Amino acid sequence: MSGKSIKDRVTEESNQCVACGLCLPHCPTYRLLQSEADSPRGRIALMSGAANGRISMNARFVEHMERCLTCRACEAVCPNKVAYGDLIDQTKAMIAQQTKSDGKKRSASLQDLLILFLHWPKRLESLRRLFSFAQRSNALRWFGKLSRLSEHRLFRFVAQLPQVKFPYVGTGDGYAHPGNSWREVYPAQGQVRGSVGLFLGCVARITDVETLNASIYVLNRLGYTVHVPSAQTCCGAIDRHRGALMQADSLMQQNKKAFSELSLNAIISTASGCGVQLLESGVAGKQVDVMDISHFLVAADGWDDVKIAPLSQKIWVHEPCTLRNVLRSQQYPYQLLARIPGVQAMPLAGNDQCCGAAGVYFIEQPDLADRLLDEKLVKIKENEASCLVTSNIGCAMHIAHGLHGKGLAAKVMHPVALLARQMGLEL
Ligand code: SF4
Ligand code: SF4
Repeated sequence: MSGKSIKDRVTEESNQCVACGLCLPHCPTYRLLQSEADSPRGRIALMSGAANGRISMNARFVEHMERCLTCRACEAVCPNKVAYGDLIDQTKAMIAQQTKSDGKKRSASLQDLLILFLHWPKRLESLRRLFSFAQRSNALRWFGKLSRLSEHRLFRFVAQLPQVKFPYVGTGDGYAHPGNSWREVYPAQGQVRGSVGLFLGCVARITDVETLNASIYVLNRLGYTVHVPSAQTCCGAIDRHRGALMQADSLMQQNKKAFSELSLNAIISTASGCGVQLLESGVAGKQVDVMDISHFLVAADGWDDVKIAPLSQKIWVHEPCTLRNVLRSQQYPYQLLARIPGVQAMPLAGNDQCCGAAGVYFIEQPDLADRLLDEKLVKIKENEASCLVTSNIGCAMHIAHGLHGKGLAAKVMHPVALLARQMGLEL
């Protein structure tokens, strides 16, 4: 389809929709708003009209598009295999093109500042110590109280981020010495079974170091050398979902170069949102698979060589939309947790519905995001869950933020972090 204009692509793909409506019961925004224009079928009709010039891309049109979570639950059930994810991304690009050609300029926001940092994740990493100090000293909260920023949702979110942690960089069996940046290579221990590349992500390299450290720990002990190329960058998903396709492509090229110079069995993603973007943008090329960490570990060798302490506990599993609707890998976290003797891995009711995090959706559409989050919190409370696992850092932070707000004490973590802890890693 390359070489075609964005409008041609939207027209061609939207023509695949036969308006059967089978996707409607699966769409969270249709369920909440009960409006055809906020359903997949309605949005596709609007996209088609806009691409053909039959309807204008006015503020109402944009609102219906922006209310979409890009959860792709509709795509997963569509009998005609309409590529809804690509359609909504291309439509956002059409909107961005029109905004540019109209000469309109959006006013800069805190979200733009966030995106600026995401493009240069090393800048984020250089702030790790400062951010950690600000968290430990409560400086962020004081700064928020003294300024009107505390009212801003993004600021409140940043102020409640999980404790910033440090990558393990020391030498030796446990490499438990924390440092500010990652080693390029973490060698396999015992019998060598292969080599993988680890994708760090942009926000996750600061906020989900626990999962990244845990992944290295488990992979090394199963006999896999882990490469962490320093030239890797953001996956580009946030750019793609806001219609900035060229920026997303430029980030993809940078990642492709960073990983192509290595001889790998797989590129491992620990956040399913990034995994989808890496897979669909073709970062890995034809020779190497992009795999979610749980999927890779379930298929990995070396389990007879490791000890896993038992844990007699019910663990509730949240299935991120990207893992479930796109990677179709939602079964692997359960299979991975089954490696821990005594663990009962239970699906959280309502796993077929998005939690509302959806990239930066929770910032841009806070009302809808909160309604979806509240539904998850009700389920967590009803189950008296003390531990919830999820395979996407965005969902983890959004749910943890909601739990904190409701005074609920359930711990939210990645399944591989729980496994690593039972294998002896101090989190
Ligand atoms: S299920 Fe597919 S074909 Fe049917 S309305 Fe939804 S997008 Fe269109
Ligand atoms: S991606 Fe999700 S929110 Fe958007 S139309 Fe499809 S099901 Fe609805």
